[in-house]
Amino acid sequence: MNYQIDENGFYGPYGGAYVPEVLFSNIENLGESYQAVLNDPGFQKELSRLLKLYVGRETPLYPSPYLSGLYQTNVFLKREDLCHSGSHKINNTLGQVLIAKRLGKTRIVAETGAGSHGVATAMACALLKLPCFIYMGEVDIKRQFPNVERMRLLGATVVPALSGSKTLKDATNEAFRDWINNPVDTFYVIGSVVGPHPYPDMVAQLQSVISREILRQVPDLTGKVMPDHVVACVGGGSNAAGSFYHFLNSPEVKLIAAEAAGKGLDSGFTAAATFRGKEGILHGSKTKFMQTKEGQVLEAHSISAGLDYPGIGPLHAWLHDTGRAQFIAVTDDEALDAGLALSEMEGIIPAIESAHALAALSHLDFKPDDVVVVCLSGRGDKDLETYIQYSNFKKTSHENI
Ligand SMILES: *Cc1c(COP(=O)(O)O)cnc(C)c1O
Repeated sequence: MNYQIDENGFYGPYGGAYVPEVLFSNIENLGESYQAVLNDPGFQKELSRLLKLYVGRETPLYPSPYLSGLYQTNVFLKREDLCHSGSHKINNTLGQVLIAKRLGKTRIVAETGAGSHGVATAMACALLKLPCFIYMGEVDIKRQFPNVERMRLLGATVVPALSGSKTLKDATNEAFRDWINNPVDTFYVIGSVVGPHPYPDMVAQLQSVISREILRQVPDLTGKVMPDHVVACVGGGSNAAGSFYHFLNSPEVKLIAAEAAGKGLDSGFTAAATFRGKEGILHGSKTKFMQTKEGQVLEAHSISAGLDYPGIGPLHAWLHDTGRAQFIAVTDDEALDAGLALSEMEGIIPAIESAHALAALSHLDFKPDDVVVVCLSGRGDKDLETYIQYSNFKKTSHENI
């Protein structure tokens, strides 16, 4: 079984590039050039230098006494929360903006929902001196104003998307429109392993620095060649793709993807695309997403903005169908409990996205000598208010009993 992309940009039946005709040539050019740029020794050298000196890699693989005790096994946290910007997203944006420069592009566009991808893109553009335009729904601009201020401080122009529901999907439409109008000079930076080919593969390769480091760190720390389990949360799927990448063709390594069940799989407020989605075309690729009978995209719900996406990338749809990865649905409350527990017991406040991966551990069985790697995709500073509200709510409801 091949879990890498084929020459036409597909993972099994998933992937491809389903874009409007006006975008054909942009996508085709990128599809023809990205691998050569990624393989170029000069590019690799510059990217490695920046990942080390700017992002702060490699990130530690931290053995967690608390989680190891709780699950009676050996749990390690891959500390992407320690990356500059506070999450794994900078691995991707830095790589794409560097690719854009190599391709002679002079202008960057991106869309953002909660703002993390926008901030990470704006950082890469400030560093590499390219003008940056971030499309963001007007509703999201109001909801996530601190990130808007961060982007502006970093020199980016935040462009409000005023159409439709004025949220992420409208921002995506308007960013696409910008790219269509500026096909020659503009590079479109996508924030996860989604979108038309070659984005899912390009982003997976840029994030695969995570599994490359795990592959080096596990033998040093454990004496084992490979981990037994690798666990990561899935919004679009970039931190999971990056954590799984070098293990895809090693079936002895179990791959576990934690999806956001939201308020529950049957609540109508969920983001678990493999459980509640079906096949269709979303954002330019064939994949799985939640939709009505007529194929209209359904609104997702998750307490974490980063997992609040109705679909998953095509690689993950394929890993799901082939059974190569196990998908676990984790509710908002399970994630919040796991995040609060890690904060208290280990002194690490995880992003609520990453807390979904932590909570997935309670759905699994481990042997005492297993090596379990959990990708801690980001830090929870941005989630303080949600954690505090939940923790106060729990205290009050406890007192009432
Ligand atoms: C954006 C984000 C995610 C979800 O995106 P993926 O592409 O699925 O990785 C997960 N964790 C954090 C901390 C994020 O910021």
